[in-house]
Amino acid sequence: MGFVQEVHVQPQELDRLFDLIVPARRAELRDAVERGTARFSGRTVMNVNSTATGGGVAEMLPALLGYLRAAGIDAQWAVVRGNPAFFALTKRLHNRIHGAEGDGGTLGPSEHEVYRAVMRDNGTELLTLVNAGDLVLLHDPQTAGLVEPLKRTGARVVWRSHIGTDDSNPQSERAWEFLRPYIADADAYVFSRESYAPSWLDRARLHVIPPSIDPFSPKNAELRPEEVSEILSFSGVLDSRATAPPKFRRADGTVGRVDRHADVLQTGPPPRPETPLVVQISRWDRLKDMSGVMKAFATHVAPGSDAHLLLAGPNVTGVTDDPEGSEVLTECIREWGTLPHALRTRVHLACLPTADVDENAIIVNAIQRHAAIVTQKSLVEGFGLTVSEALWKTRPMVASRIGGIADQIEHDVSGLLVDDPHDLTAFAGALLSLLANPERAQRLGRAGKARVRDRFLTDRHLLQFAELTSALFPSDGSA
Ligand code: UDP
Repeated sequence: MGFVQEVHVQPQELDRLFDLIVPARRAELRDAVERGTARFSGRTVMNVNSTATGGGVAEMLPALLGYLRAAGIDAQWAVVRGNPAFFALTKRLHNRIHGAEGDGGTLGPSEHEVYRAVMRDNGTELLTLVNAGDLVLLHDPQTAGLVEPLKRTGARVVWRSHIGTDDSNPQSERAWEFLRPYIADADAYVFSRESYAPSWLDRARLHVIPPSIDPFSPKNAELRPEEVSEILSFSGVLDSRATAPPKFRRADGTVGRVDRHADVLQTGPPPRPETPLVVQISRWDRLKDMSGVMKAFATHVAPGSDAHLLLAGPNVTGVTDDPEGSEVLTECIREWGTLPHALRTRVHLACLPTADVDENAIIVNAIQRHAAIVTQKSLVEGFGLTVSEALWKTRPMVASRIGGIADQIEHDVSGLLVDDPHDLTAFAGALLSLLANPERAQRLGRAGKARVRDRFLTDRHLLQFAELTSALFPSDGSA
């Protein structure tokens, strides 16, 4: 079995993106696309990450690369293969970069050995896909060890970190020291915020590019209210008459069908369609603090409202790049079991089917559209695509004032930010205030959509990508 998995990327027509954005930016984007097409004639833009499904990077790549492909650029996506020891290590690095202790393991010579062995195997195979003059974008710590072998091909190599913390601490510094030798020779670095880059990183090679969402993907595309309710009742998230399997438009334009149900843990029936639903959708990761949301809801929100809570995340099966998932889900289930019966009937834990990426996305889309309030109570957050996703659907949001979340939400204008992510009372107070004032909640949601349209859609991302590539490939076209 090979190490590297090549992921098919469907071209996405740029015209629909042009139709959505303000005219001034349209001309700028058209120009950037034309120059990009000329620049990348005969070159490949190879993206490498560690998973084809789940999490922010896998969410973003299909749209970004799809638009590049439609413009005639050979944009490719490959996924490295790892083993459980490697993914335990990269999860440790992920937690430490976020300033958290994680599994408490070491980052010493034997970890370097585990890391290098996996990188070597994947690197050997990637060398057959990359040529001199190509551009390689390596995403996150799981790919940092590929900088050196891929540079040797004569390609330009960019290392992009989607994670980071504003406040470095000994944990994060130790993790960056581990990665330092691997990323030292990259031609450029991309971080979501400048403060995430370690202090020793060469600022001349640093580019700050926040992520974006694609408004036309199954995750974010418009859905009519009846489509939302059909998807949610069929998948078992809402209590209403089950219908035939609902149809939806896939990323490649073909018609898909929701065939699978969510695994929902609940006492009694799912919430009624008219019940206000507070929702958090995240990977089962401790730093997303699903259990904090549950505690705040049970202790403060449930007694003061008639709302229900839905915590939804992906199914946790198989070997993935996120080995903590099943542990965190198990903890949530245990905590749910300790809630008094009356509260348990109002808290629903859902694992969404992941076998079909588009089916998963359309269920997430429908849940976000149905929610009365969406939360992102992360303790640390690199960016938090779920925030832009919910705002794009005009959902009122309550979220922690940390990392990239604070870039997306302007407090009391496009959502509510809670200063201390550990403060359950303040978090619950923000939720209760919006549940009690639907007009204010709607106002925040509408402002949130406008902010996302302006700053966090694919067009802005493509423009910044164009700037990065013109710095790497000067206009004389020499590689
Ligand atoms: N997501 C999903 N299904 C799930 C849970 C999450 O598709 O069951 C998606 C979510 O909609 C978002 C991405 O995974 O697009 C998570 O990205 P984010 O930046 O919020 O956090 P990350 O997982 O990268 O830390």
